[in-house]
Amino acid sequence: MTAHPPKPTKQSLRSSKRQWSISDFDIGKPLGKGKFGRVYLAREIKSNYIIALKVIFKEQIEKYRLHHQLRREMEIQTGLRHPNVLRLYGWFHDAERIFLILEYAHGGELYRQLRKLGHLSERQAATYIASLTQALAYCHEKDVIHRDIKPENLLLDHEGRLKIADFGWSVQSRSKRHTMCGTLDYLAPEMVENKAHDYAVDNWTLGVLCYEFLYGVPPFEAESQKDTFRRIMKVDLSFPSTPDVSAEAKNLITRLLVKDSSKRLSLPKILEHPWIVKNADPMGICPK
Ligand code: ATP
Ligand code: MG
Repeated sequence: MTAHPPKPTKQSLRSSKRQWSISDFDIGKPLGKGKFGRVYLAREIKSNYIIALKVIFKEQIEKYRLHHQLRREMEIQTGLRHPNVLRLYGWFHDAERIFLILEYAHGGELYRQLRKLGHLSERQAATYIASLTQALAYCHEKDVIHRDIKPENLLLDHEGRLKIADFGWSVQSRSKRHTMCGTLDYLAPEMVENKAHDYAVDNWTLGVLCYEFLYGVPPFEAESQKDTFRRIMKVDLSFPSTPDVSAEAKNLITRLLVKDSSKRLSLPKILEHPWIVKNADPMGICPK
C-alpha cells in the first residue's frame, strides 16, 4: 500500500451508480476510532486508489436511532465538492455494518498537530481559519449548517490543507455527545441555551477555533461544564499575555465571539479581515 494517494483516476470512485462491496477494497492500518466508527486506510483494488474506509456498526446506529439522520447526511455530504471539505465518495453496507468511502487525509488530525506544537503561528492559524471560512461559506450556500467543527474533526491532507471531516450526522450525535461526556467549549450561547439558532453558530465556532489555534486552549475552558456554560453566556473572554498574539488577531476573535448572533462578523467579512488578508496563505497550504 502506498503512503500517498496515487494520482487520481477516481472515475470509478466518483460514479455514484457503482455498487461497492468490501471485496473491492484491501484494508490497511486503523486510522482512528470515534464514537460510532472505526476508520481504516484502504485501497480500492481496481484503481489502486487510496481511501479511508469508515466502518459503522448498524447496531450502534439503531440503538441511538440515527439511521435516518445518517442516511440524509450521507446524501448531503456526497453532494459537497470543496477543496476544504472531506469527500465522501460513496457508501455500502453488509448485514452488520455501514461503510463510508472517504477521501484519505494523510496529515491526520489538526488537533494532534495543535497539541504537539502547543499553539500555531499566526500564518498557520489564519490559513486554517480562511480555509474553514471558505468551506463554511460553501456549505451555507447549500443550506448545510451546524458543523461539528472542533479540532478533532479537522483533518489535514498530505500538503497540510485543511479538510472538514466527520460531517453531518454529528448534528444528532453532537447533542448526545455533549450530554454524555460533553465538551461545551465550541458551542455558541444560543446553542448552549437551546434557543433557535442558524448558520451564525458556525461563525462563533470560528472565533473559538481561532483563539484555540493561537493560544492552544479554547477561550471558555473551565473546571466544570457549569463554569464553561457560565463563561460562554457571559462571553467571558480574555487574552493571556503569552503567547504574544497580534492585535489584529484579537480583533477578529472579538468580532466573532459576540453574543448577538446577528452582530457576528459574516463569512465574507472574515475573508476581508486585515489579519486574514495579511497572514493567510492564498493556496490554503501550510508547511508543517
Ligand atoms: P463521530 O464523531 O461522528 O462519532 P467518529 O469520531 O466516530 O465520528 P471520525 O471522527 O470520522 O469518526 O473518525 C475518527 C478518527 O479517525 C478521526 O478523528 C481521525 O483521526 C481518523 N479519520 C477519520 N477519517 C479519516 C480520513 N478520511 N483520513 C484520515 N484519518 C481519518
Ligand atoms: Mg470524530
